[in-house]
Amino acid sequence: MLEYGELAAPLKRAASLVRDVPDYPRPGILFRDLTPLMADAEAFAAIVDKMAEKAPKAELVAGIESRGFLFAAAVAARLGVGVVPLRKPGKLPRVAHSVHFALEYGFDSLELPDGCVRSLERVVVVDDVLATGGTLKAACELLHKGGALITGALVALELVGLRGRDRVAHHDVQAVLTV
Ligand code: AMP
Repeated sequence: MLEYGELAAPLKRAASLVRDVPDYPRPGILFRDLTPLMADAEAFAAIVDKMAEKAPKAELVAGIESRGFLFAAAVAARLGVGVVPLRKPGKLPRVAHSVHFALEYGFDSLELPDGCVRSLERVVVVDDVLATGGTLKAACELLHKGGALITGALVALELVGLRGRDRVAHHDVQAVLTV
């Protein structure tokens, strides 16, 4: 159950629409499914508005594939800035940089499209869920390689117990919902 305590009514509604799916995608993982939340106009708007409100100063939003794209694009539109997708391998026609990183089980990579980030451009990173923080850490490393100045990270939901923010402790990480 999510913590409803301090939240305003539309955010409470959003929190109530997070669906817990046990043993997905592997036994032992409690997957926090945000699709019912995103499908609800009021809840999705409340989350995106709050993410935009919490956003540090930025000239560009970077979204992490793939669920992060949905929040990143909406937040960028609210902030009046552009959005750049950090993609899984094999998706981009022109790659500027890539990072390879360890997940709980196995490895993954993220790639930065060529020609989308200017040197020292202020970028905020957006994802749907902060879990162990490995993906967010890799995204920050990738943007750093690309010359960006990371001003912070925004997530819709943080799984606090996994302490993912400790892996990106030198960045300002803001979460709208926590559990
Ligand atoms: P992380 O462990 O922070 O690197 O999480 C990797 C990605 O997997 C994040 O971008 C989340 O979208 C997703 N993720 C990890 N754990 C969960 C979970 N329990 N529920 C929902 N999404 C998750």
